[in-house]
Amino acid sequence: MAQSKENIVMFPFMAQGHIIPFLALALHIEQRHKNYSITFVSTPLNIKKLKSSLPPNSSIDLHEIPFNSSSHGLPPNSENCDVLPYNLVIHLLRASTSLKPAFKEVISSLINQGRPPLCIIADIFFGWTCGVAKELNVFHAIFSGSGSYGLACYYSFWTNLPHNKVTSDEFVLPDFEEASRIHKSQLALNMLEADGTDSWSLFQGENFPAWVNSNGILCNTIEEFDQIGFIYLKRKLGLSVWPVGPILLSLENRANAGKEGGTSIKFCKEWLDSKDENSVLYISFGSMNTISASQMMQLAMALEASGKNFIWVVRPPIGFDINSEFRASEWLPEGFEERIRDSKRGLLMKNWAPQLEVLSHRATCAFLSHCGWNSVLEALIHGVPIIGWPMAAEQFFNAKFLEQEMGVCVEVARGKTCEVKHEDVVAKIELVMNETDKGKEIRRKVSEVREMIKNAMKDEEGCRGSSVKAMDDFLSAAISMKNKINGRVNN
Ligand code: UDP
Repeated sequence: MAQSKENIVMFPFMAQGHIIPFLALALHIEQRHKNYSITFVSTPLNIKKLKSSLPPNSSIDLHEIPFNSSSHGLPPNSENCDVLPYNLVIHLLRASTSLKPAFKEVISSLINQGRPPLCIIADIFFGWTCGVAKELNVFHAIFSGSGSYGLACYYSFWTNLPHNKVTSDEFVLPDFEEASRIHKSQLALNMLEADGTDSWSLFQGENFPAWVNSNGILCNTIEEFDQIGFIYLKRKLGLSVWPVGPILLSLENRANAGKEGGTSIKFCKEWLDSKDENSVLYISFGSMNTISASQMMQLAMALEASGKNFIWVVRPPIGFDINSEFRASEWLPEGFEERIRDSKRGLLMKNWAPQLEVLSHRATCAFLSHCGWNSVLEALIHGVPIIGWPMAAEQFFNAKFLEQEMGVCVEVARGKTCEVKHEDVVAKIELVMNETDKGKEIRRKVSEVREMIKNAMKDEEGCRGSSVKAMDDFLSAAISMKNKINGRVNN
């Protein structure tokens, strides 16, 4: 008789930036570890969307639990941050705690059917699931789609509030010493406003302490280069930390997940094929962010003045409907679009570019990025140096870490409101892309990091990389707990 598979229940917060890494983790486990099945839990509209994104050969079980956004004072059908303005994200986070009874019911019913899950892997914002797991005797892990350093700074910040004793513009996050000297301009808006009594502080004030009931943290990072955060999290939380990265959607699974039409891939590839090796700058601010109209103007001027080839993912600037038509004649210097088209020097991709195709192309030399962690990993895997322009969340910490600790990035600007001058942007582009000492040094460091990642992912007989081992350790820890529980039940 075929042995039944061990079931892993996954439960991300309802935001694309969380659901996609969870989906990548689910597919990673499903494809490499044949003895495990996955139950993916979310709310109805998210499950509906996921149904069309799963690869045809996937047997991930999508399980919906009820959620009515209107009953939490949110607009109707608001089940994902994608459809919410930023100021309502915290409302969705608070509303998500109401999923507790339904989630508990999912786990209880699996147990009652004689199919207790091997473990629960839940979101960093779902600290309350740790209590559910403990109560029902199920192994629990938190999955962070970001790196250890970013997560550690984020954790330290929220668990050491208020920071209002800080009188200078700079302060050191508790328990980190100099490695986390933070400037106020490196705080996202909700952090800058946090005084211990606001909605974010109150939410995180319950969320993070609940982690103590988890068994550990799965981090989408590589142990070899993310030591500071790794050590901090282990020491501070007293939990296991498994650095299992990079966990990313493959090219094939991205096509299933949506936005990448074959036409845009073909178009971009043909354009890149026509360019010299290491001659193109790729510019993207991730899946959600955009810059201000004046920043957009300065960036466009810098791109023209630099004389470099470029692909720029453009979106309407801050203050305009993100889904509206991109009005190049209003938001870019006069004649910019025609000039770059005629000279074949630049490509403006409206809203979205096939990022992995671009970063993996031999013509791509550098990436001007908002330093979202997926983008960072995608750049490093392909050996592409980063010109950092962090925008929100832990991206500021990522940029700092990439520049100061790893040496693979040069920061060019910070945030959505900073005044940026095109001459400064040109200087940073030249520093990284030209044969300057700094440019050479950054490329050398990026090559080293690329090797580290390759080694961490090695999965060969007698040669298993750190990330592969970490995933095995995590699964073994879950199995060992289940065996202990079974032993207790059988005795
Ligand atoms: N992405 C893409 N094309 C774009 C913009 C983003 O393929 O034009 C993908 C990118 O490859 C990455 C993800 O969207 O996998 C963005 O994730 P990240 O963590 O970098 O930033 P976020 O969008 O969460 O801010």
